[in-house]
Amino acid sequence: MAIKYIPEPFRIKMVETIKTLDRSEREKNIAEAKFNMFNLRGEDVYIDLLTDSGTNAMSQEQWAGVLKGDEAYAGGKSYYKLLEAGRDIFGYGYIQPVHQGRAAEKVLFPTFLSKGKVAISNMFFDTTRAHVELAGARAVDCVVEEAKDPAKRAPFKGNMDVAKLEKLIAEYGPSNVGLVVMTITNNSAGGQPVSLENMAAVAAVCKKHNIPLDIDAARFAENAYFIKQREASCKNMSIKEIIAKTFSYADMFTMSAKKDAIVNMGGLIGVKDPDSPLIPKIKAACISYEGFISYGGLSGRDLESLAIGLYEGIEESFLRYRIGQMEYLASRLDDAGIIYQSPVGGHGVFVDAKAMFPHIPYNEFPAQVLAIELYKEAGIRTCDIGSYMLGNDPDTGEQLKSQFEFTRFAVPRRVYTQAHFDVMAEALIAIKAKAGSIKRGYKILWEPPILRHFQAHLEPIKS
Ligand SMILES: *Cc1c(COP(=O)(O)O)cnc(C)c1O
Repeated sequence: MAIKYIPEPFRIKMVETIKTLDRSEREKNIAEAKFNMFNLRGEDVYIDLLTDSGTNAMSQEQWAGVLKGDEAYAGGKSYYKLLEAGRDIFGYGYIQPVHQGRAAEKVLFPTFLSKGKVAISNMFFDTTRAHVELAGARAVDCVVEEAKDPAKRAPFKGNMDVAKLEKLIAEYGPSNVGLVVMTITNNSAGGQPVSLENMAAVAAVCKKHNIPLDIDAARFAENAYFIKQREASCKNMSIKEIIAKTFSYADMFTMSAKKDAIVNMGGLIGVKDPDSPLIPKIKAACISYEGFISYGGLSGRDLESLAIGLYEGIEESFLRYRIGQMEYLASRLDDAGIIYQSPVGGHGVFVDAKAMFPHIPYNEFPAQVLAIELYKEAGIRTCDIGSYMLGNDPDTGEQLKSQFEFTRFAVPRRVYTQAHFDVMAEALIAIKAKAGSIKRGYKILWEPPILRHFQAHLEPIKS
């Protein structure tokens, strides 16, 4: 039985019409897009779940903030409002706006990473991995084993495997590990949370070996909500208290504000110690790449709406509704026997395409197959979080085999309603019914050297 959908803690004041095409038009569109979801036109999509990044609906307070944004080049009012919000919520001494999450990575990572170094994470997000590699270093994932079995339920499948982290540090040598990155929630493992206990354990290991600890903080609020629900010692803490405690364990954070801060563009870097020697380096790199330190590649209006969104994103009633959407869709999939990364994560439902198409091998990209079928079936745009996204080994050029073959239904914040979720469930049920008749996957006709999934051209393999 599907669980109850948690009603929206808001009402709708402005609407955007979306169109439905018929199946033959969708088949034509996806072929013209070279079977790459990123090449589809947004207007040809009915429900767009490509990402929850920057696709959020802003509130009336945020839009009012857009009008109040201070566009001064240096030292604008909106900048100071953002600094105050950042210091208040994260408890860090230095806050640097940047234009999005990958800009934070670009500015920060080269100060710790270079050729010969490694960075270790519970799991690197794709752009984060790319910036480790662009800095010349290698990225190593170290997630707990239970994350690798989508059907196995565990409360904190995003956690770092602490014993393995110790082993990796011993193998590489502590001085060669330039950075440890804790991704909260763990996006690539299915938006799975990291516990406060695990944060503390990882911080202790980093401290012992004198390795800096960075939080990749895109979904810090969703992570805090899961901690409140699932970690007994935190159930009486407020979301804000849990966030402050989480960040107290790290030295710095890099953040895409396009997720939990509920804006369409923006990012942050935070440094705990206001006297850190890191800060002048961040300022210098930011001025070169992003813009002056008081705007960091953003408009004053973006800084203003971000300062407001940071607070809206940590409201418990909002988080209950948001996570409730994922749980509603997941419960409909449970009823239909469709496997997903369970329990469901914070920002989306990650459907196990390997379980849906067991006969399609990793190098024919089963999760991309499911994404394409969803578009053809119902105009739903999702994406592959599997071998197609992972790409090739940078040393050998061989296709890597991902631990997962997920098709990600990433849910924009405050955008879709219960009826849209029913359309998602029904499309998946229809595809599952005919999964055996979809015999082969796709091959890559052209790909760029890095982050290939955004641009590659694909073709169906004839059976
Ligand atoms: C989105 C994301 C990033 C990159 O942020 P952008 O704003 O897309 O550049 C980095 N890490 C994680 C975990 C993310 O989800």
